[in-house]
Amino acid sequence: MEEIRTEIDDLSEPIEQWKKILGKDHLLTEGEELDLSNSSAYGFTQDYRIILKPKDPFELSECLKIANYFRIKVHSISKGKNWGYGSKSFSPDMKVLISLERMDRILHYDETLAYVILEPGVTFRKLAAFLSENGGKLQAPIPGTSPDASVLGNATERGIGKGVYTQFANHCKIQEIVTSSGEILSVGFKSQSSYLICEDTTGPSISHLFFQSNLGVVTKIALLLEPGKEIEKRIFFFSQEEKIGFCSEVFREYLQRGRNRITLEILNDYRFATQKGNFPFDSSYPSEFLPRKELSKFFPEFPSARWFGSVNILENPAFDQNGLFDKIQNELSVLPGIELIGNESREYPSGFSDHQLNPAYWRKKFPPPKDPDPDRDGCGILWLSPIIPHIGSILDQAVQTTEEILFSFKFEPLISMRPGFRTVKILIGIVYDREVKDSNRRALECYKKLKYSLSSLGFHFYRSGVQDREEQTADPFVSMLKKTMDPNGILSPQKSGII
Ligand SMILES: Cc1cc2nc3c(=O)[nH]c(=O)nc-3n(C[C@H](O)[C@H](O)[C@H](O)COP(=O)(O)OP(=O)(O)OC[C@H]3O[C@@H](n4cnc5c(N)ncnc54)[C@H](O)[C@@H]3O)c2cc1C
Repeated sequence: MEEIRTEIDDLSEPIEQWKKILGKDHLLTEGEELDLSNSSAYGFTQDYRIILKPKDPFELSECLKIANYFRIKVHSISKGKNWGYGSKSFSPDMKVLISLERMDRILHYDETLAYVILEPGVTFRKLAAFLSENGGKLQAPIPGTSPDASVLGNATERGIGKGVYTQFANHCKIQEIVTSSGEILSVGFKSQSSYLICEDTTGPSISHLFFQSNLGVVTKIALLLEPGKEIEKRIFFFSQEEKIGFCSEVFREYLQRGRNRITLEILNDYRFATQKGNFPFDSSYPSEFLPRKELSKFFPEFPSARWFGSVNILENPAFDQNGLFDKIQNELSVLPGIELIGNESREYPSGFSDHQLNPAYWRKKFPPPKDPDPDRDGCGILWLSPIIPHIGSILDQAVQTTEEILFSFKFEPLISMRPGFRTVKILIGIVYDREVKDSNRRALECYKKLKYSLSSLGFHFYRSGVQDREEQTADPFVSMLKKTMDPNGILSPQKSGII
């Protein structure tokens, strides 16, 4: 395959070649799955003609060789549950989707050094079952999204997990990628008999080049696991104050000293309400945002709450942690506007929650089903993800700007945040019903206005989606690598602004 061909519209020849690699059952050119991948594009035009489903890196490699030869752009997904960032969609001119869900093996497990090596199709549910079957000595990661999402997809997009896995990407080392020309490259260090999971071997560390990138398709990661069977102590509180910055700052030192053993999650009143129920369509505001005064119906026991927080402290009975729980609880109890709701201790990890996807159904006229699927059910959701310095006044400025803009577009501002020692990750949700006429356009306009306003204040963002695809923000160094590694520009061009 030496001759280079120009891009073609007619896909019949590559289809014949892909069929020889995958067999006809694993190349889709019609059907519900293809239709859903196109229809869930949040108002963007998506026109996939083909879904390719390789079963291992070798089949993937052959598929990419063909795509590269014909210069056909492809977009790869692991489980495709990228809800709020574009789901499975990518760009109007993208015709070929590569789904890696069949590559779902847990390839290696090391209980002593506490890691697993796994493929893109491994879900949080599958990994949890595996660790439990193996004695539960190590802790399964709990995601904020569906347990049927991909561990690899979530980690390499720098997703936010629960508890000690909040900064999920920090637990992930990329082990293998397949390049646009089909080379299968080992990225981590692997000796004959075992894996060495570290980046401190001679030479530069390269794993992070493949997070949120389009330089290669990731086919294997090592996931570093935390010890299981710990005691999780949780303190719940709410705040009646409009501003949350001062409260968050109180935790800064704890977050620094406690590393990832202490985590803090804060939700605003709107975000909390979306966990509890759907928008009340019988109220007088069906085409407006729900006024704040109406929210207390969702949490009558805390009528004036503006913010809800939970501090999670993981304790290992074998190590003394000097009464951190009591200290934090005492400190919180004297803050103005703060009321403690309660606390609990439980063995951790405690399993998956059934309610994680509730917010996506806020504007639907039916409650979240038992098997939620925001794509299938026409939910509309766009996430905007600023990352800001952990300074109270800056946090308050971000919240105020967000609320003003979302209210002006008649959306409820859903805000949640994960303060760390130096930075705070904020997750802003614009939630709507995709089946309401013109709603996609309105949501996107609101998203762009908000992003522009927060950027003008000097804020950065930690994750992007299909809603950001027009931006070309990549560092020149990364663009140079892209040109070298993918000279024909076939792998998800413009993802994370990289062309
Ligand atoms: C109500 C709600 C709550 C949510 N809460 C959270 C949360 O708390 N934390 C969070 O992180 N997310 C959250 N999400 C967003 C989303 O559902 C998750 O991030 C989910 O894990 C992404 O889907 P996936 O794991 O199936 O990854 P995929 O959709 O398979 O992948 C995501 C993207 O990563 C890239 N990619 C995937 N696989 C590869 C590969 N092998 N090689 C190269 N690139 C690849 C592609 O660009 C792809 O589009 C939430 C969504 C909703 C609706």
